[in-house]
Amino acid sequence: MRFAFSDEDEALRREVRDFIAENLDEKAAQELYDAKHGGGYGDDAKALLAKIDAKGWNAVSWPTEYGGQGKSRTAQFVIEEEFYRAAQLIIGGGGTGAPAVLASGNEEQKREFVTGSIRREVVFCQGYSEPQCGTDLAGVRCRATRVDDTYVINGQKIYTTHAQNATHIFLLVRTDPDSTRSRGLSILLVPMDMPGITVRPLWTVQSDPPAPIGTTYGEPRTNEVFFEDVVVPASCLLGEEGDGWAVSQRGLNLDRVGAWRYLISVMRDEDIVNYLKSSEDPAVRGKAQNDGVRDKVAEIWIEGQVCRLMTMRSISIEGRGGTFTYEGSAEKVWAPEHGVRTTEAITQILGPGAQLLSDSPDRIEKGVYAHNLMGAYQSTVNHGSVQVKRDQIARKGLGMPRPRKAT
Ligand SMILES: Cc1cc2nc3c(=O)[nH]c(=O)nc-3n(C[C@H](O)[C@H](O)[C@H](O)COP(=O)(O)OP(=O)(O)OC[C@H]3O[C@@H](n4cnc5c(N)ncnc54)[C@H](O)[C@@H]3O)c2cc1C
Repeated sequence: MRFAFSDEDEALRREVRDFIAENLDEKAAQELYDAKHGGGYGDDAKALLAKIDAKGWNAVSWPTEYGGQGKSRTAQFVIEEEFYRAAQLIIGGGGTGAPAVLASGNEEQKREFVTGSIRREVVFCQGYSEPQCGTDLAGVRCRATRVDDTYVINGQKIYTTHAQNATHIFLLVRTDPDSTRSRGLSILLVPMDMPGITVRPLWTVQSDPPAPIGTTYGEPRTNEVFFEDVVVPASCLLGEEGDGWAVSQRGLNLDRVGAWRYLISVMRDEDIVNYLKSSEDPAVRGKAQNDGVRDKVAEIWIEGQVCRLMTMRSISIEGRGGTFTYEGSAEKVWAPEHGVRTTEAITQILGPGAQLLSDSPDRIEKGVYAHNLMGAYQSTVNHGSVQVKRDQIARKGLGMPRPRKAT
């Protein structure tokens, strides 16, 4: 076994690094950050994305028949790692929706949505959570009633990130009104501009004061999305009617796979090491000599390497067309909790200034350490909470029985 990237992948990494050094300046980085948080792309960001797309890097490992490059998943991993580290830019094919369409869609849907995602003409948001069911997704109430060749949708979703700029929503609905729990659910791929859809912002703690550039954790905005007699063609159905639970779970697992997922947590380890090494402040430099600090920094860095290996295992499973039993859940517990440990350690090592948010005059590094600490806690809940993931690991990974219901 050769436990390393191939020469080809290493050459690709060098090429991507050179490209970033040449093309990513501060203005483009700021515009990308603003766009991620609700603004449109500025000219510099657009020009950068066009150059990236011309290289074919946006979907390097996806099938050529849908516009990808047909290269390996490790090539995609390398590209994702480099762009996310440089500008928290997700390049390479991760993200919501399209991987699940590739796995569960018919030919027409793959051509529309996979090719559309690669060309940036299609952007999905994820419509799973509802006011009464986030963790307990089997309790979904949003209904889609079949009427001839259409579905009529009524209900509400909540915490729908990027609903304000998505072109489509990957929507979990109940298509069988007599069903309960995970049966009778379906996935619909719904255009966001259909009459009857209303998007209302839901601001998070990261919005006020605003999280500065460099904050990798936590969205400043999610949304509530309301559906009132929204009529869509039946061809919006992804997979079989009633099979929505399996399709959505597969989608969730695929969305979790990607170098950027682990980097969200691990970049914080790199921040502290870089800050201790490069700060001009003698007090900070003194900390770099402190045995306790050095031990702690080494410890979190080792944990970070575990995050990376877990991500690579998921990529390997996905690349072989395998299915996840507990691996995605294990990654989803380990990386966010590592993120909490590492951001806590950073604020303790750097002291009170690192615990102040962006609007405080005494904050350090624009408040990014404090915002990342808040966001790290948030990441233990979104995309499936760690408590529930632990339960899935116990059941699917260790074969333990379901927990007894509280009486
Ligand atoms: C910033 C952010 C962005 C998000 N983006 C999206 C999005 O784009 N699309 C989308 O569909 N959703 C999104 N979510 C929703 C997210 O997936 C849910 O918040 C999450 O699944 C938890 O659901 P809940 O908020 O209803 O909490 P609850 O389900 O009420 O859970 C509250 C707490 O109780 C615990 N708990 C609940 N049930 C159990 C159990 N059986 N055993 C042990 N502990 C349990 C949970 O672990 C959690 O700690 C987002 C959330 C956040 C915070």
